Amino acid sequence: MRHLIALFACSLAMAGASASDPAPKPAAAADGRSANVKAILEGKATASAKPVVTPDLKAIAAAADAATKAAKPAVPAAAAAEDQSEVDLSVRIAERLAELRAQQQVRAANAAKAKRAADAKRRKEAEAAIAVASKPKNGTHWSYEGEYGPANWSNINAAWAKCGTGNRQSPIDLRDGMKVDLEQITFDYHPTSFSEVDNGHTIQVTVGGGNFLTVGNQAYELQQFHFHRPSEERINGKGTEMVIHFVHRSFEGKLLVLAVLLERGRANSLIQTVWNNLPLEKKQAVSPSILIDPNEALPEKREYFTYMGSLTEPPCTEDVLWIVMKQTMQASPAQMALFSRLYPLNARPVQQSNGRMIKESN
Ligand SMILES: [Zn+2]
Repeated sequence: MRHLIALFACSLAMAGASASDPAPKPAAAADGRSANVKAILEGKATASAKPVVTPDLKAIAAAADAATKAAKPAVPAAAAAEDQSEVDLSVRIAERLAELRAQQQVRAANAAKAKRAADAKRRKEAEAAIAVASKPKNGTHWSYEGEYGPANWSNINAAWAKCGTGNRQSPIDLRDGMKVDLEQITFDYHPTSFSEVDNGHTIQVTVGGGNFLTVGNQAYELQQFHFHRPSEERINGKGTEMVIHFVHRSFEGKLLVLAVLLERGRANSLIQTVWNNLPLEKKQAVSPSILIDPNEALPEKREYFTYMGSLTEPPCTEDVLWIVMKQTMQASPAQMALFSRLYPLNARPVQQSNGRMIKESN
């Protein structure tokens, strides 16, 4: 019986050494006793085995120890199993390394492909730029956004070069003005006949002759006025919701633009007259039978900023005398909303002032 227990302990020891490894079994395991061992392992010990297995724990331990020492073939088997698992591990590491190398190669190939694509794109763009540069620049279409927007105006038409290369462009941010006693502006505006057009960039009102503005002993005749949203000019970085530009010309052909900034508030009667007579079709001027009074858009206070600038749309002609009134005027929210339906954005961004002198009324 002891021999059987020793065999059982030996089997346990072997199972502990390597559960999965089919280590060579002692010859005894082949005979009929192995069935008993199995039965004991599964808790189905026979009646004759029971009294021995249960009480004699000391004997089991001693037998197990002896069996472990005696079970010589189990030791090389465990070592072999260890060697085998080392081999397996090496194989797995080699496989993983190969996998990582393959991934690295794929990444390198993708990067090279992306670089080739980027190079090709750059070449194409350079060719396109050369093609554009060599094209005759005689376009006439411009807008306030995108391909035909302010940044590209100078590339559309050779006659619009100043839009890109000029150094006295408008609008600007009016700040750090020289506070001086400026010449008074004298307005000699009257109710006048007018025609009105939606020219695709703004609503423009061309007025009949005889409306003069005099400043510095120079008279300028009002030609037309039009609207921008938001205001193009800024005062210390701040713009307003809209602006009216009154464009004047002297007899010698000098240009003066007077800007009146508009803020949200009361309705303005001049603006209402203009809105009332909006043409139904773009680029088709209408000439209402009523008169319009430009005085209605002039602020009461006559303080102003002044500087030399340009037209704020192509051809961006320079040598334009600018007068920006300090006091704002108002338009009602409904009047503002109406214009925004036609022109939500028709303002050129502010340009570099390039150290230009800005004067302002004390
Ligand atoms: Zn304007």
